[in-house]
Amino acid sequence: MLVAEILSIGNELLIGKTVNTNASWLGRRLTSMGFHVKRIVVVGDEVEEIAQAVSEALARGARVLITTGGLGPTFDDKTLEGVAAALQKPLVLHEEALRSIKEKYDAMGLPLTPARKKMAKLPEGAIPLPNSVGTAPGAMIELPNTLIFCLPGVPKEMQAMFDGSVASKLTSLNPSYKFYEHTVLIEGIPESSLAPLIDKTMKSYPRVYIKSHPKGSEGRPIIEVHLSTFSTSEEEASTNLQGAADMLIQLAEEYGAKRFKG
Ligand code: ATP
Repeated sequence: MLVAEILSIGNELLIGKTVNTNASWLGRRLTSMGFHVKRIVVVGDEVEEIAQAVSEALARGARVLITTGGLGPTFDDKTLEGVAAALQKPLVLHEEALRSIKEKYDAMGLPLTPARKKMAKLPEGAIPLPNSVGTAPGAMIELPNTLIFCLPGVPKEMQAMFDGSVASKLTSLNPSYKFYEHTVLIEGIPESSLAPLIDKTMKSYPRVYIKSHPKGSEGRPIIEVHLSTFSTSEEEASTNLQGAADMLIQLAEEYGAKRFKG
């Protein structure tokens, strides 16, 4: 399976000022495209921290690495510097990126200041990704074993760039697996009593991953059970998911619980 990692960059994420919705959005999208998201890392706006995180993802052999944040014109936007340092490449002014930035500021009647020009400096060999919502272009860097995408931090910009430039490139990597999931709600069994029943079901269906999420109160336990599998065949996936769900519900019913929903 193709492994993907997400690197979220920004002090605001570390201090809890901003909720890392970019990572959850990307995690969901990458998973639904058949990538196995193995790690989400958050670092602050420091070149060394970013470079180290990128080097570690490359060393782990991620096929895809997506960074978000830190592409803008301000002093603390250091993502491309960090990526360049990890790749031991210089930052170079990309003419096409500069042209698109200039056009955007021209349209706003604003001059091209050094801070704005900085956004066109990409690691050598990077391809700029158009930003249809904001001004800072993204970047794609194609290494022999890893594709790196550097996307903006503003969620609307990040999502538009993902849909406009990243998704098609990821599809061309041809992930052979797809992700399938099924959710059931079970009422009347505490999570601690459901745990051994989940273990038993997973032993019978080793390709299905089952995770319980308690939803009710102590007096009225309702457990959301999420079943998921990666498979190359939709038929096999649905047989496995349905079989596992049926087995777990039957075991829970023997305990005295009942299916609440799903
Ligand atoms: P800009 O061009 O606007 O400076 P940027 O790529 O430099 O974009 P940041 O400055 O890192 O992005 O972040 C801009 C804003 O986007 C942040 O103030 C925050 O509100 C939001 N943001 C950043 N990272 C995330 C994230 N991981 N999840 C959700 N929102 C985020």
